[in-house]
Amino acid sequence: MKWFVFALLIFVSCKEQDDSLIGEISEGKWIDLSYDFSSQTLYWPTAETFKFDTAFEGITASGFYYSAYNFCAAEHGGTHLDAPSHFAKGKWAADEIPLNNLTGETVVIDVSDKALKNANYLISPDDIQTWEKINGNIPENSILLFRTGYGAYYPDAKKYLGTDERGADAVAKLHFPSIHPDAATWLVKNRKIKAVGIDVASVDYGQSKDFKVHQILYGENILGFENVANLDKLPVKGAYVIALPMKIKGGSGGPLRIIAWVKN
Ligand SMILES: [Zn+2]
Repeated sequence: MKWFVFALLIFVSCKEQDDSLIGEISEGKWIDLSYDFSSQTLYWPTAETFKFDTAFEGITASGFYYSAYNFCAAEHGGTHLDAPSHFAKGKWAADEIPLNNLTGETVVIDVSDKALKNANYLISPDDIQTWEKINGNIPENSILLFRTGYGAYYPDAKKYLGTDERGADAVAKLHFPSIHPDAATWLVKNRKIKAVGIDVASVDYGQSKDFKVHQILYGENILGFENVANLDKLPVKGAYVIALPMKIKGGSGGPLRIIAWVKN
């Protein structure tokens, strides 16, 4: 009898405290941080857009349904990875990034109050330090996500990029907020992060001519995630991100499926 009660107690305690990985995950939800790829997908004015052609779609001669398509696009467009090799020779290419660097806990710094009022807004070291005063230091090995609020405009090119024109002349007309080089330098010097993501087309702002933030971050093998979706659905910290780019050998980036797990 004593043995039976003991066994029952163990059973009850196991039931109440499911600390298995599956048990933990079931106490949260997955959020999709990627936009889909289609003819609407936004690309840099000079980059090849997403092409999707039907190879076959319909009933075959053998009587079953079958569909298959060909796709083609620039690496850098829609929700995508910037591999460090995009701006730093000898640093990781898309296929060389350790999986550990594509996954991790997130921090979300929301600057939408200022950025939505100023399409050329530059996120400053002060924005980061203000966040830290409230939430504590950015933990080591975080994936840092900046929310400008411009995700709400996607895929309206005029509002999201500042212009819906295409071609080399359109580049000067790009207006969207992003990170100040001083903020990138501050992060590299003072914090250890795996990646920086943002809900605009580039980690440098639309009017940048020298792409300094790209150079500073990628020179340290910090990854870039651009055109990240649904950042308004994440908590300020503690979400867990899995960011899996297409594994293009030697690629400077590529289409990115990025998802976040958030505790209920
Ligand atoms: Zn890019």
